[in-house]
Order: sequence, then structure tokens, then C-alpha cells
Amino acid sequence: MSDRHSFIRSDLLRLAAYTPHPGGETPASIDRLDTNESPLDLPDQIKSKLAWAYQQEIEANRYPEGSHEELKKAIAEYATESANLTQDLTTANISIGNGSDELIRSLLIATCLGGEGAILVATPTFSMYGIMAKTLGVRVVSISRQESDFALDLEMAQQAIADSARPPIRVVFMVHPNSPTGNALVARELDWLRSLPENILVVIDEAYFEFSQTSVVSELTKRHNWIVLRTFSKAFRLAAHRVGYAIANPDLIQVLEKVRLPYNLPSFSQTAAKVALQHRQLLLPLVTETIKERERVWSILEDESKLQVWQSNANFLYLRLQNISDKHENALAQITSKLKAEGTLIRHTGGGLRITIGSSAENNRTLERLIAAIN
Ligand SMILES: *Cc1c(COP(=O)(O)O)cnc(C)c1O
Repeated sequence: MSDRHSFIRSDLLRLAAYTPHPGGETPASIDRLDTNESPLDLPDQIKSKLAWAYQQEIEANRYPEGSHEELKKAIAEYATESANLTQDLTTANISIGNGSDELIRSLLIATCLGGEGAILVATPTFSMYGIMAKTLGVRVVSISRQESDFALDLEMAQQAIADSARPPIRVVFMVHPNSPTGNALVARELDWLRSLPENILVVIDEAYFEFSQTSVVSELTKRHNWIVLRTFSKAFRLAAHRVGYAIANPDLIQVLEKVRLPYNLPSFSQTAAKVALQHRQLLLPLVTETIKERERVWSILEDESKLQVWQSNANFLYLRLQNISDKHENALAQITSKLKAEGTLIRHTGGGLRITIGSSAENNRTLERLIAAIN
């Protein structure tokens, strides 16, 4: 490999490709509780609208609308309403990506490329920040979280920033609430983020905002070094369409617009996101159901003496096994593959298991299989 591909960057040759569902065959009927998608497809009513739009409105031979103006307008309105803002967000506050994954990469390109900066992440957290940084040759500084509640160890975080000289930390990535652990940022963590100097970009990834209903968007006018990321892939049930967006002050949004590919968002995806926003009264009530299910599943797992399960503000739960130290990772890997063989995909990550909340039937099967597997 390295001989024949000597034109490839040596650091990239050493990286393995990201595989969403690692390892082997899966049974035909499967409960997909490993990627935090919505358990329900779009309602027929919305699918018909999209089919109609494809038949009547979308010209397949034409490039997509490249400025995303209409969709930005709809997002600005939704984001204003959902954060109860007194001052309206406008299209100048929004940039749209091919999934928020694209926006993460754009931010890395805009800040750290060419040895200009490193990023700070607190693990366990969303793996994409580190994966994408590495593919761009950007250094990743990782600190660990407190075991009890997965809050940041602020002394360690501050030390990491003070220590990083060449290249300096230019971006801090925070998920709010965090994946895989489900905890939202608390007051002292937010205060620490507010205390960071203006030459550090603070990225607050609110992928699970609709579940947590907690947001920092109202602070953005005051903070020119903050940016919020959100996605249509989770509560809005549009993972297939790859639509994510950033909210920030216009100067920062301009930078993202500069970096993105000109036609990054297919016409059909733009339409799907617009239609989903128009019909949010139809789509978002499922969030309440999911939260109820999450609490039901949580209380059943909480009763299992062999498990430690944390409270969550998102559409998934995070758990670990009690009283296993050196063989913990092995045991988790075994549970994950046993469940997979039985038809339940869950995610073994960050020293624990992350389980998406699905339909109640899916959750019941998962509970049964998981409890059998640990006992
Ligand atoms: C799911 C998820 C995303 C993914 O977003 P896409 O819009 O599907 O690319 C981003 N951040 C976090 C923390 C996520 O869990």
C-alpha cells in the first residue's frame, strides 16, 4: 500500500476508514438502535408531498439552488421560534451543510488547516470531530471527562489550552447534550466556555436540541467566537437527506459559505427539509413519545444491579457494566455482538454502550436481549 500509493499523505495512509456498522453479517429483520435516528419514517402525507415535488417541481437536469435562500429563511424562523429569541435570526445567521458533518469539516478547514491550529475534545464524545481532524492532518487534543456525570474536568481543560503552544488550540468542540453520554452542559461548563478568549472558536453541537430543549442560541449575538450546529437527521427524521445547519454571527457564517462546495445540498434534500419544517407540528410530537420511552427504559435498566445507566437529555441512553474493570471492553464487545446476532444493533463506544431509543416494540426486544446478555 505505502509503496504503490506514495503520493498519499503518510498520516492519511495510517488511518482506517470510518465504518458506520462495523463487522460482519446482520440478520434480515433488524432493530437499528446504533445511530440515534428516529424510529419512524416520514408520514405518508409528507412522503406524497415530496414525491409530488419531485414529479412537478424539481428539474433533475438543473443544478440545485446554490444559495439555499428559501431553506435558510425557514430555518432562521424555526431557530428563532424554538429558542424564544427576542431578536429574529435572519438568513445571514445560517449556513447549511450536507449534514452537520460537512459543517464540522468546513470549520476545521477554516480554522486549523496547514498547521495553524489544534482542536480540543473531551472524551467520550462524538467521534467525527477527531476523525475528520485527523484526515485533514489537524492535531487533536483529548481530555477525559469526570466519571460520575461526564462533566468536563475544567482544570484539565484549562491546562490543555495553556499547554498547547504549537499549534495552539483554535477550536473547542462540545456536544450539548453530549453523545454518547447524554449529559447537557451545566452552568460551570458554560461559564468556562464563556471565559475562553476570542481567538478560540467554540462549537456547540446541538444535534439533539429537539430532545433536550436546551440551547445556547440566545447567546450568539454576544459571542462572536461561538457557533451552534444542528441537524435534520435526528428529531426531523431526515437522516437519508443529509441536511445540517450552523447558526452564528454573519461574519462567521460568511467564512463557512466561502469554504463549502457550491452545490453541496441536492435539490431534493432542500425540498425535504423545507417540507419537514412546514410540517413540524406533525413530526415533532414524536419527540415527546421518545422521551417517555427513554424514561421507561431508563428506569428498567436502573433496576439492573449489574448495570450503571446515566440520565440522558437526548434520544439515547448510555450505560456501563458495574464492577468489571480490566475485562470491561471485552464484555461490552461480547454483549454488542450477541445483540447483533439476535437482531439489535447498539453502539459500543467510549467505554460503554450507547442505545438509541426506538419504538416501544424495539425497546422491549432490546431490554429483553440486553438483560439476558448480562445475566
Ligand atoms: C448525529 C450527529 C450529528 C450528525 O449530523 P448529520 O447532520 O447527520 O451529519 C452531528 N453531531 C452529533 C453530536 C451527532 O450525534
